[in-house]
Amino acid sequence: MDWQGKRVTVAGLGVSGIPAARALHERGALVTVVNDGDDARARTQAAELEALGITVRLGDGATLPPSTELVVTAPGWQPDKPLFLAAAEAGVPVWGDVELAWRLRGDNGRKAAPWLAVTGTNGKTTTVRMLASILEAAGLRTAAVGNIGVSLLDAVLGETEYDVLAVELSSYQLHWAPSLRAHSAAVLNLAPDHLDWHGSMEAYAADKGRVYEGNTVACVYNVSDPATEDLVREADVEEGCRAIGFTLGAPGPSQLGVVDGILVDRAFVANRQKQAQELAEVSDVNPPAPHNIANALAAAALARAFGVEPAAVRDGLRAFRPDAHRIEHVADIGEVAYVDDSKATNTHATEASLAAYDSIVWIAGGLAKGATFDELVTGAAKRLRGVVLMGADRALIHEALTRHAPEVPVVDLERTDTGAMSEAVARAAELARPGDTVLLAPACASMDMFTNYNKRGEAFADAVRARADESA
Ligand code: ADP
Repeated sequence: MDWQGKRVTVAGLGVSGIPAARALHERGALVTVVNDGDDARARTQAAELEALGITVRLGDGATLPPSTELVVTAPGWQPDKPLFLAAAEAGVPVWGDVELAWRLRGDNGRKAAPWLAVTGTNGKTTTVRMLASILEAAGLRTAAVGNIGVSLLDAVLGETEYDVLAVELSSYQLHWAPSLRAHSAAVLNLAPDHLDWHGSMEAYAADKGRVYEGNTVACVYNVSDPATEDLVREADVEEGCRAIGFTLGAPGPSQLGVVDGILVDRAFVANRQKQAQELAEVSDVNPPAPHNIANALAAAALARAFGVEPAAVRDGLRAFRPDAHRIEHVADIGEVAYVDDSKATNTHATEASLAAYDSIVWIAGGLAKGATFDELVTGAAKRLRGVVLMGADRALIHEALTRHAPEVPVVDLERTDTGAMSEAVARAAELARPGDTVLLAPACASMDMFTNYNKRGEAFADAVRARADESA
């Protein structure tokens, strides 16, 4: 693509906007960055870009600069913003950071590595990192990139040459990535999330479904979540591309699943009617909670679609270490396990987390983001020893517990100061019996009390370790 003299508007200074503006400027485009904010940080960033010859307009992200030929947006910008309405009216295309990376890949003379893409409401980061671990075990040059902290633009334009990329994509990024064509892709699951941004569940699902468009080898779906299979059916894929299911049960033909504690592949084998290939043991998955086994199967399916041998699937899963605050075992005190799943910020994630343990003291609460808790509480009621609630929207969870699990003891913590998590852990410890798990899986965002879910998880882990030291 010839960028020389092309008038590009980059929407949003920030982690994706600044590298995009630089990359386009280097290619000869006439770049204008527009940004809503006009604070000290934005001014410093603007000054750096202006020194390169890039135009920056602070304090007005709404007006489309005249004669714009292309808008490149930060993925979080909501599609109904006036800037995009103006672009649509003027017939100007809008690309997100992923679309830009997709178009620029190979542009620096390096090999354009194929993408194995993962999206879904929950489990994306874990699956993409498992996938990268498997690809590495197969001796491939790869990286886990995308909505995971490593920008795709940096990956495709950087010094390192890759054989294949393991790409995490959010629904926002997919919304703005019209021409992306992955080698193979997986949608892990679909539950209501970010509906304020997308406008409706249908629009959210449609954006997730874009990940399958143009796949060449496999569209990987979740057998227990039929909405993901519907998206495969609706996708326009390359001739010969196959639909591959993953299931925690015994797999049918063209599926990966579990038989007697073994992960097996009935998709990428010579005779899928008769043959099943062993890949790994359930105990190779870290941790072997049901939803995480599902993540491992999805990662294995994408790796197998890329031609990876079974032994590398096993080695990659064994080598994988989960990120912090994702069903992370912190300590055992007495005979009670303490598990930090602070990353469970919505009810779908918490449902998976609660399903992984038999008898639980559950610590929950925070910002509900419009969620309701009846289904979650009904499903988990039998396994709840007790509940400790904290945070702004704890009353919503308390009401659901009163309706569906009135016999479960609930501690309602009003305090929101820095000592609140220590008290939550102390009260949970009082409720717990030997063999129980004290599980922080808040089903809510953390920002009412903490900077982010990491800080919330750290507060929990600190409180648990302090108790462990006392009891040692
Ligand atoms: P994402 O990148 O999609 O946010 P993560 O891998 O960071 O996903 O996991 C976020 C949380 O979602 C985890 O802490 C866990 O509670 C939950 N989770 C992980 N995998 C799944 C899954 N397959 N289904 C449901 N919940 C999951």
